[in-house]
Amino acid sequence: MSLDRTEALRDIRDRILNLTDSTLYQFRVDNNYFPVIGMGSHDAKIMFIGEAPGKSEAETGKPFVGASGKLLDQLLESISLKREDVYITNIVKDRPPDNRDPSKAEIALYAPFLQEQINIIQPLVVATLGRFSMEFVLTLFGAPERTQKISALHGKPIVCNTPYSTVTVIPLFHPATALYNPNGRQPLFDDFKALVPYAGQDTAE
Ligand code: URA
Repeated sequence: MSLDRTEALRDIRDRILNLTDSTLYQFRVDNNYFPVIGMGSHDAKIMFIGEAPGKSEAETGKPFVGASGKLLDQLLESISLKREDVYITNIVKDRPPDNRDPSKAEIALYAPFLQEQINIIQPLVVATLGRFSMEFVLTLFGAPERTQKISALHGKPIVCNTPYSTVTVIPLFHPATALYNPNGRQPLFDDFKALVPYAGQDTAE
C-alpha cells in the first residue's frame, strides 16, 4: 500500500473535518455526524463515486452503508468485486438535510476534494453512481458525452484522456433508483457487467 497516497488522503480528511465554510458543516456538528471521505483500497483500479452521504453514512462516516449500500454490496458481489479492492466515495462529503439533492454551490465546494482523490488514487476505471457524479466526472475529463443524459449513457464505457492516463468512465444509475422503483433493479445488475473486464485485474500495485 502506498504510504504517500494514505498521507495525502489523510490530509484531505483533515481539511474536510475543518470545512467550516460549508453550508452543511453546522448540520454535521448539530447531529454529531461525520463527514464521509471515502473507503477502500488507496491503490484501487476502480473508483465508485456517488452523490452525498445519507443518514446512515453520516452516522458512521462510511460511504454506502444504508439501504443503497446494501444494494451496492449485492451489485459488487454479482461481479465478484470486493469493497476492499475498490475505492468508494461521493462528490459531496457531508450529509445534506432531508436527503435533498446537493446544491450547485455544495458540489462546487466539495468537488476539488474529489478531484484530489482521483489524482491521488489514479483509478483506471471510474464508475459513477447517479447523474450528478456522471456529469461531474465527464466534465472534469472533458468528455464530449458530458451533455448527454444518464438514460443514454448508462452501462456504456467512455474512454477519457486525463493528465495521468487514459481512464474508462462507466456511468451507472444510482442504486437508490431501484429502491423507489423495483423495475430499476435489473438495469443496474445489467450495467454492472460493464465492469467485469476490469474486475479481475490485479488491484494491488
Ligand atoms: N447515496 C450516495 O450517493 N452516497 C452514499 O454514500 C450513500 C447514499
